[in-house]
Amino acid sequence: MLDQEIKSQLKEYLQLLENDIVLKVSFGADDVSKEAEELVNEIAGMSDKITIEQGEFPRTPTFSVNRPGEDSGIAFAGVPLGHEFTSLVLALLQVSGRPPKADVKLLEQIKQLQGPLHFESYVSLSCHNCPDVVQALNLMSVVHPAITHTMIEGSAFKEEADDNGVMAVPSVFLNGESFVNGRQTLKSILEKLGTTTVDVSGLNDKEAFDVLVVGGGPAGASAAIYAARKGIRTGVVAERFGGQVQDTMGIENFITTKYTEGPKLAASLEEHVRDYEVDIMDLMRAKSLEKKDLFELELENGATLKSKTVVLSTGARWRNIGVPGEAEFKNKGVAYCPHCDGPIFEGKDVAVIGGGNSGIEAAIDLAGIVKHVTVLEFLPELKADKVLQERVYSLPNVTVITNARTSEIYGDQKVQGLRYVDRETEEEHSIELAGVFVQIGLVPNTEWLEDTVERSKFGEIIVDKRGSTNIPGLFAAGDCTDSAYKQIIISMGSGATAALGAFDHLIRN
Ligand SMILES: Cc1cc2nc3c(=O)[nH]c(=O)nc-3n(C[C@H](O)[C@H](O)[C@H](O)COP(=O)(O)OP(=O)(O)OC[C@H]3O[C@@H](n4cnc5c(N)ncnc54)[C@H](O)[C@@H]3O)c2cc1C
Repeated sequence: MLDQEIKSQLKEYLQLLENDIVLKVSFGADDVSKEAEELVNEIAGMSDKITIEQGEFPRTPTFSVNRPGEDSGIAFAGVPLGHEFTSLVLALLQVSGRPPKADVKLLEQIKQLQGPLHFESYVSLSCHNCPDVVQALNLMSVVHPAITHTMIEGSAFKEEADDNGVMAVPSVFLNGESFVNGRQTLKSILEKLGTTTVDVSGLNDKEAFDVLVVGGGPAGASAAIYAARKGIRTGVVAERFGGQVQDTMGIENFITTKYTEGPKLAASLEEHVRDYEVDIMDLMRAKSLEKKDLFELELENGATLKSKTVVLSTGARWRNIGVPGEAEFKNKGVAYCPHCDGPIFEGKDVAVIGGGNSGIEAAIDLAGIVKHVTVLEFLPELKADKVLQERVYSLPNVTVITNARTSEIYGDQKVQGLRYVDRETEEEHSIELAGVFVQIGLVPNTEWLEDTVERSKFGEIIVDKRGSTNIPGLFAAGDCTDSAYKQIIISMGSGATAALGAFDHLIRN
């Protein structure tokens, strides 16, 4: 089951086990049970610290990771391979007594939570956002005796996932009620549980920054590092450190690195910024910006930060199609991330709206998992690169419909189909399907700036070659600007440019 390389890595990790581990198991005769049993037996065969016992669980197959005589509360329903393999290894190490790596304050907050809290998270093994959630909830279970967490492999428990209305992963339930969807960090889960209160007065009392960066994606991280390296007082406010990179699977065009994955690059970005004297204020959203003597950035939590210069690097997000049903069925069949949510639609019919590169890449990706993909493109022809078009047209389970204006996504509790208008004949058609992937590009995160700064008709902040905007001292970088191309390396370059522009402004004013 495990290939030779993974086996030897695992063996090394298992040598780090501090104490004995008991894996309690419940397997049936089905194929997934056989796979899970094989995995558990292989792991137990690699360390004499691991023993297997029979257990009882609501789902089969399930196995839990425990100390002898003491249940940890961590269980895996299905087979935690793919992206979840790391979650399994971490669970083994942490349950054995290796201290979890987390901020001391967060660990303290977990201990103060009122139990019992029983979490269940539906994941797919190809979802790169799921391990963060699984690992955070496992960590909470290790730290707090009244917290339990079961990772549920959605494709192994399809009917249950369907009954619970799970159409996007990760999807977390707490004590049987839907709790949170999408990528989360330990901190954001604790915030959602209401344990962290932001110290607004502490933020208000901060001394004015020389450069305040708004946004923690590639552009913001690069701007912060360049500014800090000039020895000036630098701060970063970011809603989600890493930005779009967190939602990216394979990255093959980050020069000097042949292949990396989004969450890995995002972690390196943060680590690199933390290497400098940068005040990182994450999980905070900017609400408005005003130029007085200094720039005043108001945050949604009510605090106001002051700075001599500001670099805006708030990036972009998926563009919504804006038809009836899109908002109502978000996470109930309307999805934006094929890597994350594709496996949920295994064996079902789906549509991809958008015939550009991202839409056609999504269709090719989904065609390998789902029963059938219908691509709907508004224009008379696809806009994707020729090589992608050739590939998509060669696939037997993909239909491409051009000149199609999607008019509605309909359903009951979840998506049942969509309607589109043939722009040539003006005839309306409907297609029955279970999922709709919207892939029509990105929109800049700049609405909150209103008229503070000059923006293009697409909402992009207009910058010059130094990253300056029309307001002296206000700079911008990355996907939120009118730069011709939106890529990681380009955002990093423009972040560096904006920080140098801000430094230049500071020494001249
Ligand atoms: C699925 C996908 C795959 C991609 N693949 C590649 C690839 O292979 N190679 C490549 O080069 N590029 C790729 N890209 C594009 C690349 O990710 C972006 O060009 C790049 O991330 C832009 O960086 P940025 O810093 O400008 O913005 P973002 O990455 O969007 O970061 C924006 C930051 O601003 C924060 N923010 C937003 N609003 C606020 C607010 N009001 N207050 C505080 N913070 C805020 C966000 O939380 C985030 O930290 C991909 C993009 C996607 C979506």
